[in-house]
Amino acid sequence: MTSPPTNLLGLDRTELQTYFTSLGEKAFHARQVLQWIYQRGVTDFSEMTDLRLGLRDTLAMQAVVSVPEVASEQVSNDGTRKWLVRLEDGNCVETVFIPEEDRGTLCVSSQVGCMLTCSFCATARQGFSRNLTSSEIIGQVFLANRLLQSAGLGPRPITNVVMMGMGEPLLNYEAVLSAMRLMLDDLSFGLSRRRVTLSTAGVVPGIQRLAQDCPVSLAVSLHAVRDDLRNELVPINRKYPIHQLLEACRHYLENDSRRRITFEYVMLKDVNDSLADARELARLLRPIPAKVNLIPFNAVPGIVYECSSTNAVNRFRDELIALGLTTITRRPRGADIAAACGQLAGQVQDRTRRSSRLAGVA
Ligand code: SAH
Repeated sequence: MTSPPTNLLGLDRTELQTYFTSLGEKAFHARQVLQWIYQRGVTDFSEMTDLRLGLRDTLAMQAVVSVPEVASEQVSNDGTRKWLVRLEDGNCVETVFIPEEDRGTLCVSSQVGCMLTCSFCATARQGFSRNLTSSEIIGQVFLANRLLQSAGLGPRPITNVVMMGMGEPLLNYEAVLSAMRLMLDDLSFGLSRRRVTLSTAGVVPGIQRLAQDCPVSLAVSLHAVRDDLRNELVPINRKYPIHQLLEACRHYLENDSRRRITFEYVMLKDVNDSLADARELARLLRPIPAKVNLIPFNAVPGIVYECSSTNAVNRFRDELIALGLTTITRRPRGADIAAACGQLAGQVQDRTRRSSRLAGVA
């Protein structure tokens, strides 16, 4: 039996070098192929004209550059775009592009569904199917880049990537790492580490590994300042409580004093939005180079929380600023097409049966 072709999309530079060496070829072909795929958008080996003809033929037989498909596109009236991306097994994930004056941010999914059960998040209600492969992760960037270029958004429409779509990126560590290395590689998308952000609900061992392997910008979904409340909102807190999480954060940027960790804090009416909460947050974050992103809660069907009032959000923000913390309120983007934080749902073949259990309850 012949083995299935290797998908070269998603192999980072080292992995591609190993691939070429295993074919008995020179490792430097990795550089050529990276540029063809990511900088020129070429997926057909016969067009990779600086490769020897014989090598192009070998690749045509043994490898592919297989990109996921777009199942649908929605454009919000604020310019945000959301794509439903169909994977080979029929599952779908969502990818969101958020244009701003000075940048274009792509929000990328890392898993089909999510294993975590954060009580206010739409993805959590979908249950979990599987991890994405690195090619499916970088494939979202590849696809979005191509679509935005053809929509006339210029040669480099994506200036920032945030791993803030569906899933918990640190529970799909290896694939996310390869994909992020491709985002950073000068022969590929060439983004700086500051412009690639990984957001985590608080997988402490993952934060520690990431600090060693690929210290991109880190965002942490904190959302509560007491363990009893955080256990409810972000149940992985039972495994890695707040003090452990903040300890890992303190060490994350130890070698780089100019950078800061972003703490995300979803504003839930009468749940976590009091002034006492703000003061405790400032106290907890004091030892850490930090900034805070307040996220007004976005409505999710079937979830009972309400968003804090604008007044409460402003009061919370002003208190943090008065206590010396850089704080911004994240403007909800793409809410009309359910593309805002916590609204991504995709089409998940749920293996955990969580979605049907929740439907039964409703
Ligand atoms: N699992 C990772 C990546 C998801 S990022 C993480 O938890 O960080 C998505 C961000 O949106 C997280 O900060 C998440 O807590 C937040 N979020 C989830 N549901 C939300 C909602 N309904 N309204 C606003 N923010 C939400």
